[in-house]
Amino acid sequence: DLRPIRRALLSVSDKTGLIDFARFLADQGVELLSTGGTCKAIGDAGIAVVEVADHTGFPEMLDGRVKTLHPKVHGGLLGIRGNAGHEAAMAEHGIAPIDLLVVNLYPFEATVARGAGYDECVENIDIGGPAMIRAASKNHDAVTVVVDVEDYARVMDEMKVNSGATTLGLRKHLAATAYARTGAYDAAISQWFAKELGDTFPRRVVVAGELKQSLRYGENPHQQAAFYVNGVKRPGIATAKQVQGKELSYNNLNDTDAAFELAAEFDEPTVAIIKHANPCGVASGTDIVGAYKAALACDPVSAFGGIIAINRKLDGATAEEICKLFTEVVIAPEADEAAIAAFAAKKNLRLLVTGGMPSPMEAAMTLRNVSGGYLLQSKDNGRVKLEELKVVTKRAPTERELKDMLFAFRVCKHVKSNAIIYVKDGCTMGIGAGQMSRVDSSRIAAWKSKEAADAAGLAQPGTVGSVVASDAFFPFADGLLAAAAAGATAVIQPGGSMRDQEVIEAANEKGLAMVFTGMRHFRH
Ligand code: 5GP
Repeated sequence: DLRPIRRALLSVSDKTGLIDFARFLADQGVELLSTGGTCKAIGDAGIAVVEVADHTGFPEMLDGRVKTLHPKVHGGLLGIRGNAGHEAAMAEHGIAPIDLLVVNLYPFEATVARGAGYDECVENIDIGGPAMIRAASKNHDAVTVVVDVEDYARVMDEMKVNSGATTLGLRKHLAATAYARTGAYDAAISQWFAKELGDTFPRRVVVAGELKQSLRYGENPHQQAAFYVNGVKRPGIATAKQVQGKELSYNNLNDTDAAFELAAEFDEPTVAIIKHANPCGVASGTDIVGAYKAALACDPVSAFGGIIAINRKLDGATAEEICKLFTEVVIAPEADEAAIAAFAAKKNLRLLVTGGMPSPMEAAMTLRNVSGGYLLQSKDNGRVKLEELKVVTKRAPTERELKDMLFAFRVCKHVKSNAIIYVKDGCTMGIGAGQMSRVDSSRIAAWKSKEAADAAGLAQPGTVGSVVASDAFFPFADGLLAAAAAGATAVIQPGGSMRDQEVIEAANEKGLAMVFTGMRHFRH
């Protein structure tokens, strides 16, 4: 299954690594064919190369729209070697076999990403490139196709040990990669059209991704997993640089993403500690070290083995505090030298720096898998404003309560439903997450707060004098009464229940202030 490479066609927009590869091929005695810009680059490096136009006897035309769309190119890629009929036809029409195709496409995705206009995007739709890639890949039995610069080395390595030939195994792998590339390319074009048309949910969608990391296992050790990226340059888990620590696991990736997106919600220095994608402490403060201590105090038991996200540069003092507890991952936009030094002794602790914070309000889509399909929705980037809150009780909330209410409701968005969050002075005091009844979430949050207070030897739990947020309306008064019993003085919730009046009356009876947001933050 070895096939020697005697003639190659190179046509690349990204010229990285091109000259080294072309020189290697030339040294192996391979005849090089190439298109305008690529041909010039190779020729300028003093390497012998023939322009495709000279090979076909047909000039490049129509501003490059037609360069390689010619039977001498496509016949050379597609003709079956050893097939008498094909070989006779090729001989008759003077079609020389092409054994290696090296193409990377017009940078359509990058052109869209830098905000180019309509016509420029259209002009960056590569036609001849994908046609050649698909032809060469179909004929992988004889033809080697390379679409990624990273694969130049693989081909050279094989040619070195096989006297200038490649194996069928490699050619099949490269063909599979090549079709994924043309598929992703067309997906990007289709997505761009959908966006131009304002068509959020088109009749057909293609989801494309590129392998970023093979994972040892998935959510559990008996599951296989891998991490794919979609090319969106949002500061976060996909773009972060790992400064130190063990390899990230599937659960680490999922939880770290949840942590960082939560920390990004706040403008003041804020720390979020996450376990199983739910926060077990979130606090804002005047500095990061204070915010970290406050976030940790919410639920120090759960914080063990957690993931910490910070929305400011990580400093040495905070890093030293973090070192006192077993932590899996720390993610921050940056880390200073003192912080990096403090973590150096903790070999397993993973430190990730993203270079910036993502915009929580940026529109995006979320995708979830269900049997037989996907659920696609716009991301929950809803955010209630102070002036949108409707006071429904006799007592209006104080300014301090209002501030904590907005903080609590923003945390709610990142907590699995049913979510109940107690907050005091910009710090969570109790978090009830993922329960099947709202009253249970309310009770659990209060109970956890009491446990933390008892362990810290405090006279009363943090829920006393706190505000409480509910991600959706209270269907009955019981959840609100549980919050009142825990000492909450004010409530923020969407409203809209059949029994709103009953809940409002219960709040009035307990002397609570309550506001309705009119916005819900379910997270199932
Ligand atoms: P060059 O820089 O060599 O002039 O052009 C290289 C680019 O042209 C590559 O990205 C390749 O995919 C693309 N290309 C090759 N043949 C054709 C063709 O016939 N039509 C179009 N539109 N692009 C082509």
